[in-house]
Amino acid sequence: MIQRKNKKEKISKKRIEKLIRRLLIELGENPDKEGLVGTPARIAEMYQEIFAGYRMNDDELDVSFVNEETDAIVVKDIRFYSMCEHHMLPFYGKIQIVYIPSGKVFDISKLNHVVERYARRLQIQERLTRQIADAVIAGMGVKGISVIIEAKHLCMKIRGVRNDSSVITECNRGVMEQKEFREHVVPLIYTSAEPKLRSVV
Ligand SMILES: [Zn+2]
Repeated sequence: MIQRKNKKEKISKKRIEKLIRRLLIELGENPDKEGLVGTPARIAEMYQEIFAGYRMNDDELDVSFVNEETDAIVVKDIRFYSMCEHHMLPFYGKIQIVYIPSGKVFDISKLNHVVERYARRLQIQERLTRQIADAVIAGMGVKGISVIIEAKHLCMKIRGVRNDSSVITECNRGVMEQKEFREHVVPLIYTSAEPKLRSVV
């Protein structure tokens, strides 16, 4: 099994360029023709961005808390883009997060960071849902969290069944594993009131 020694190390653009060039030849293309000449370099550059999650540090998830009593918090429509690990094609959509803080408040932009960290790598939707829930429970001291992801998969749209349907996955952790909590809080996700972030009394 080939594995890179240090996962935090920047991916090698030069090596990716070579691989993409090789792939273009295998596909029957001439990688030196106009239009394709810069493609391996562009893909290598793009991969650095869309697979950046592998090299995001744990300490970037550190949160500073302010003590304050709050009830459930809903963060709606966090947009994400990821790459399916079965086909290396994009899947993308929106994430809804409901969590119950434990008397501590953290900067909500940290949730975006958690999403980016796990979305910007090869993924499957079920694992992405679970990893976000687990990271917030472990790192941010919340009492419970529900993560709901609705996504479209290009590998379903452009190949195989060619179906345009969405896939919805859900993961509940902490007190949100109890049905009565979920029944009380999760419906708030589906209200359309602005602002998108709201506190529940
Ligand atoms: Zn796929």
